[in-house]
Amino acid sequence: MVVLAAVLLPKRNALRDKKSAGFDAAFIDLLPNISSGLNLIAGDEPLPPLEPTDEYAFIDVWNGTTAEMMPLEEYITFVTAAEMPASYSLEALKAQAVAARTFALKHMKGEVRCKSGHTICTNSACCQAFLSETALHERWGADFDKYFSKIKSAVEATEGLVLTSNGEIVTALYHSSSGGRTEDCEAVFNVALPYLVSVESEGEENAPQFRSVKTFTKAEFVDAINAAFPDAYMTDPQKDVNIWERTDSGRISLIRLGGTVRTGRQLRKALKLKSTNAEFTITDDTVTITCLGFGHGVGMSQCGANAMAQRGADFAEILKHYYTGVDIERIATPKTLIKLLGAIDPEE
Ligand SMILES: [Zn+2]
Repeated sequence: MVVLAAVLLPKRNALRDKKSAGFDAAFIDLLPNISSGLNLIAGDEPLPPLEPTDEYAFIDVWNGTTAEMMPLEEYITFVTAAEMPASYSLEALKAQAVAARTFALKHMKGEVRCKSGHTICTNSACCQAFLSETALHERWGADFDKYFSKIKSAVEATEGLVLTSNGEIVTALYHSSSGGRTEDCEAVFNVALPYLVSVESEGEENAPQFRSVKTFTKAEFVDAINAAFPDAYMTDPQKDVNIWERTDSGRISLIRLGGTVRTGRQLRKALKLKSTNAEFTITDDTVTITCLGFGHGVGMSQCGANAMAQRGADFAEILKHYYTGVDIERIATPKTLIKLLGAIDPEE
């Protein structure tokens, strides 16, 4: 970070000098790919000061022990590596990088809060997963160089790109596998978002995450349900389990468990199921639950993204399939600005 700041600062000063010398219009002409709204530079707006800690260049990351101001693109690299198998197609990894960057930017703009009090954390249950270089060496072993360069190229190819809807940064939720159809955000999180609606997700059938089976003995099931829901008073699963309602995508929305009625999410959490798209098979002795998909099912299915990439889709097609009606825009970070400014001779 120190090195980066040292490299950037002289060029920033050159940028400021050019601004004071009346170079604004010429400078803005250099940014044809950067649209208005999200950018540090928009139309005739005055050029803002570019500091090393500019909000879109660095992100405050809490790892559970310490906080670090990381260059945003570096953070996105380690998130992409943690959130998606590196063996997936490059276009799927690019889509993941854009989703992760969008998710991060939503936090950086203060529109979503991390429970830690920092901008974002490395706990996937709260924010997004993150693996350090050491952890990635452990995960990939001899394949480290191959996979790390693949992830880096996916991040670099999409540098600064984020998803927007009507000019606003979207909530870029994603999950491992949808089981064939993603879920409406409203059905899971009680918030309707026009870009997070249920869509088909073809080609997931062969992935290991597609189907999972969990079998409980009758006693294990009864104990687990009564421990999670003391008002269930469950005794006989064959009489005490009724699925009351499913969403249009097939996921359980309401289920009766003995004397209580719970949501599919509560059931999933209590029994540590892979998803709420669950089928019960109950015998005298056992309760078997078969789940399709892995995760909440909202937004991009990583498994489906890989299937789309294998069918020839690029990252933009993947993102626009899973996030209905979104635009893909580039944010102007100091890093991207400096890159574009490289065409200008500071001494000119
Ligand atoms: Zn967090």
